[in-house]
Amino acid sequence: MYIIMLGAPGSGKGTIGKEICNKFNLVPFSTGNMFRDEIKRETELGKKANEYISQGNLVPDEVTIAMVQEQLSNLENVLLDGFPRTINQAEKLKEILSKTGKNITAVINLRVPDEDIIKRTASRVVCTNKDCGASFNTIFMPPKKEGICDVCGAPLTVRDDDKPETTKKRLETYYNSTEPLISYYEKEGLLEQIDIDIYSPTTKEDTTNKAIEAIERRL
Ligand code: AMP
Repeated sequence: MYIIMLGAPGSGKGTIGKEICNKFNLVPFSTGNMFRDEIKRETELGKKANEYISQGNLVPDEVTIAMVQEQLSNLENVLLDGFPRTINQAEKLKEILSKTGKNITAVINLRVPDEDIIKRTASRVVCTNKDCGASFNTIFMPPKKEGICDVCGAPLTVRDDDKPETTKKRLETYYNSTEPLISYYEKEGLLEQIDIDIYSPTTKEDTTNKAIEAIERRL
């Protein structure tokens, strides 16, 4: 099974994606996490990627596709979070999967108004333990103990690219490069739209349930 999570930065792809992975036993595949790991390890790829990420831009397709191609071809039952982000990447993904006779099961698009995105990313905190990667929100989904991850107990931190100036640029990048994927996957008959109300106290559960139902309808 191959599930794609779509949505603007801060729409909750990582959080909801984790729940979907638990439900269907999928391997999470997050290009953002892969890049952050490369940056932390100060690899050549990490240094190159950071030039783009820190400015709120996309890492060039050739760099991203090379990394994905190497790691994705051996995996089955995957949830893709943050890939594809351009039409070119989507075409490439189709090609990689079709070589081994695999298909995308569903594309889940999380729809959140821009002003809510800015509010949400400004208060997002993430776990510093890269094997955990849990995400919290000091306003909407606070950890039980301030600054500490509920899941593994590691310290929480603010992502560098969650600063308001970078978020604005990331949103602009999203509209220019990634939003066209919504109609691309709609035409492919794979799109499932979910509207998110970030002010609802049950937003995580509601969104997770809607996404699970949408996937089950397609199995
Ligand atoms: P994310 O954690 O998915 O929000 O990704 C963080 C940043 O990594 C993005 O803002 C991009 O700069 C970069 N990135 C992640 N995935 C991709 C991708 N598929 N193509 C290009 N850049 C990406």
